[in-house]
Amino acid sequence: MIRLHDKLFKPFLTEKQILEAIQRMAQEIAVDYKDESPIFVGVLNGAFMFVSDFLKAYPHPCEVSFVKLSSYHGLTSTGIVETLLDVPDNIEGRSIIILEDIIDTGRTLQKLVHIFRNTKVKEFKIASLFYKSEVYNGEYAIDYVGLEIPDKFIVGYGLDYKELGRNLREVYQLNQKHMINLVLFGKPGAGKGTQAQ
Ligand code: 5GP
Ligand code: MG
Ligand code: MG
Repeated sequence: MIRLHDKLFKPFLTEKQILEAIQRMAQEIAVDYKDESPIFVGVLNGAFMFVSDFLKAYPHPCEVSFVKLSSYHGLTSTGIVETLLDVPDNIEGRSIIILEDIIDTGRTLQKLVHIFRNTKVKEFKIASLFYKSEVYNGEYAIDYVGLEIPDKFIVGYGLDYKELGRNLREVYQLNQKHMINLVLFGKPGAGKGTQAQ
């Protein structure tokens, strides 16, 4: 069990399980793109560790770039998206494969699809290391998935809880039992709605 800020997290996935999933994804994508060099676009900050291990597992020539989006809180009511680090140059006619850490409701993915819709890319695909299929609410089918996981908050391997936990090599899951105890014993701030973005 580890503590980050006010919450306890229990072990969920080992480093080995994560790396094996990434290896499978890299092989699967390599088969589809063996005749061209795609541009992998990592979504910062959460995907930094995934991008690094994915590229080391990818057996063919490829390019890499990054985008960074504003958080949900930065979204205006009109749905206009702020990109903090923009789409790479020279993507016209190229195959783009987005590397995401996790897809939950799909709102972030929707932003990405919107951003790339106006570019003249040859092809646009999504690869996500983790996928919460139970809560996914988007229209876009996820092209490559590392591991389907339940609707529980996780940290580690790039994913944070209030910016902590990104450096963990394994993935941990929020300890709900601990949360329930806190709620039962009336500790303040232990209820729902504390999920980090
Ligand atoms: P979506 O937009 O699909 O609802 O969620 C995607 C973003 O929400 C991720 O990029 C991540 O920042 C955050 N997120 C969703 N689920 C989790 C989770 O279980 N753990 C962490 N640390 N972040 C999550
Ligand atoms: Mg992400
Ligand atoms: Mg986060």
